[in-house]
Amino acid sequence: MRGFVRELTAALSEAGVDNARLEAECIMESAGISRLTLLTEPNMPVESEISDAAREMVLRRTRGEPLQYILGEWEFYGYPFKVGEGVLIPRQDTELLTEIAEGYLKKNGGGLIADLCAGSGCVGISLARRCDCKVKCYELSEAAFGYLERNIELNEVSGTVEAVRADVLTFTTLESFDAVVANPPYLTKDDMKQLQREVAYEPQSALYGGSDGLNFYREILPRWTGCLKSGGLFAVEIGIGQEKDVVQIFAESGMKAECAKDACGIYRVVYGIKR
Ligand code: GLN
Repeated sequence: MRGFVRELTAALSEAGVDNARLEAECIMESAGISRLTLLTEPNMPVESEISDAAREMVLRRTRGEPLQYILGEWEFYGYPFKVGEGVLIPRQDTELLTEIAEGYLKKNGGGLIADLCAGSGCVGISLARRCDCKVKCYELSEAAFGYLERNIELNEVSGTVEAVRADVLTFTTLESFDAVVANPPYLTKDDMKQLQREVAYEPQSALYGGSDGLNFYREILPRWTGCLKSGGLFAVEIGIGQEKDVVQIFAESGMKAECAKDACGIYRVVYGIKR
């Protein structure tokens, strides 16, 4: 087994994968051999079914497919999310948006939340698991919507989270929310030309925010501020260097916004309270 893991690690490393050993272990785990078994029984032979499955996954990975799609599941905020082609992979960056919303909801007693461009549902579902709230997750893409529904089931939150198939740029509702959160597509035209190999596998519709990356903020802010209760939170994730423009867009919707930095010191979230 030790030799086999070494073989996988070498193949990944040769293909330019950074954390080759870690990814080899994740792939072994997904093929059916836990990390603990790797540690405690390094000399156990690997059954051919398992080695075939692991080699096939490594081959996909060496061709550039994201590890998360190959494993089919990824963790966000400590919770599991099914992922695959057609849905944006939950990123650690987005935990900041979730944290800010969680802090607000805990302080203000929960309520009804709208998660726009929900994708896998990672933000809305995590909030439903952490806070006393009901969440509507809005998603347009058919493929992503399938994952959203599966993740609601997987996280056992069907009592509090509802998936709504809708285009948040045109959708209207008479409902009134206590918080609106969104991680919309925000990459610029230039960003799209230089996507990392793995990111190019992800749906363009979840990444591209128009030539300057700001299209969704311009549409979402005025539209959804109208559905926010007075005193409610509006929080969005942003791309690198977009904070000034997005704060201005909040101001045009009558909100004085603040910016929060992620662990790398990059402004990652803009948020404001409706007066
Ligand atoms: N954070 C993603 C990236 O940099 C983009 C996701 C998004 O546009 N919301 O690849």
